[in-house]
Amino acid sequence: MARYTGSVCRLCRRENNKLFLKGDRCYTDKCAVERRNYAPGQHGQRRTKVSDYGVQLREKQKMKRTYGLMEKQFRAYFAEADRLKGVTGENLLILLERRMDSMVYRMGFATSRTEARQLVRHGHFMVNGTRVNIPSYQLRPGDIIELREKSRKVTRINEALDGVMRRGVPSWVEVERDAFKGTVKTLPVRDELTTPAFQEQLVVELYSK
Ligand code: SF4
Repeated sequence: MARYTGSVCRLCRRENNKLFLKGDRCYTDKCAVERRNYAPGQHGQRRTKVSDYGVQLREKQKMKRTYGLMEKQFRAYFAEADRLKGVTGENLLILLERRMDSMVYRMGFATSRTEARQLVRHGHFMVNGTRVNIPSYQLRPGDIIELREKSRKVTRINEALDGVMRRGVPSWVEVERDAFKGTVKTLPVRDELTTPAFQEQLVVELYSK
């Protein structure tokens, strides 16, 4: 599966928003958005008038990049969100949050979604007792993600867990640090999905043209 391998801080600077793509560094004053708060590239500091289309496009790119997806995958999520009952934009965000890599990140086994995706691909986790190594695997309320026995000594996972225990986990997941286990308590509701702040309606407008 294709994936973006360039500088991730550049993506945040492009979106003029912290997308939290680089783990612990995002919480320090070394964050590139804090240091150079303008778009990357030679013309990054130019003032430009942005069209309605441009605003919608930037919002779509922001969401897509936050969850580490390419256009085709993101489109497929939108099509599924549109097919489901309810508000399309909210459905889209919830589908993205239900991804295994996103949940692993939210539970604190990894410091970024990219790292979570790698850990999942490398088969470090079980879901309800079965090994799952598919980052896009959709989780449901009640599902239990557990770190495999032989992965429990991995330093970076332990450090990530310690970090999230200090910062706290979102209300829709529960983590038992000592058991290396996390439970999806419920699906998130829109008001809880605040970091980064999305205007999902703009994405819906863009794809509905
Ligand atoms: Fe880089 Fe993280 Fe800051 Fe984004 S939020 S610019 S990924 S350090």
